[in-house]
Amino acid sequence: MSDVKNYDPDCLFCNIIRGDIPSTKVYEDDACFAFRDIAPQAPTHILVIPKTHIASADELNADNAALAAHILAVIPQIAAAEGLTGGYRIVSNVGGDAGQTVRHLHFHILGGKRLEDQMA
Ligand code: 5GP
Ligand code: ZN
Repeated sequence: MSDVKNYDPDCLFCNIIRGDIPSTKVYEDDACFAFRDIAPQAPTHILVIPKTHIASADELNADNAALAAHILAVIPQIAAAEGLTGGYRIVSNVGGDAGQTVRHLHFHILGGKRLEDQMA
């Protein structure tokens, strides 16, 4: 159970952070939350999200970019804890053309196998 800044009651990930919707947590600190994707596209598929409702990476700016930097600093810790020694991919979809389905900034961590070379 955690507070969300700029909480959007209609946002799935805001409600996951609060514990109102269950998830399989893998990491949490004051600023971010990480959990397993419900429909994994790789043996390891984790979502890392800020505890601030930001719609996407397109909403990042000088005032909130520290949150994204924090997440990028946490991801290697999560990857190490998951044993992703062979490498992994970090993805953040932005908007319709990228197929973003949840409008709360999230970084996918994908790994545990040789990933596709093609990204798009
Ligand atoms: P996007 O397509 O927006 O980049 O990624 C959203 C991700 O959220 C998808 O990979 C999807 O499987 C995942 N997802 C959607 N609903 C839930 C849920 O209720 N719980 C969890 N753990 N993941 C979800
Ligand atoms: Zn949200």
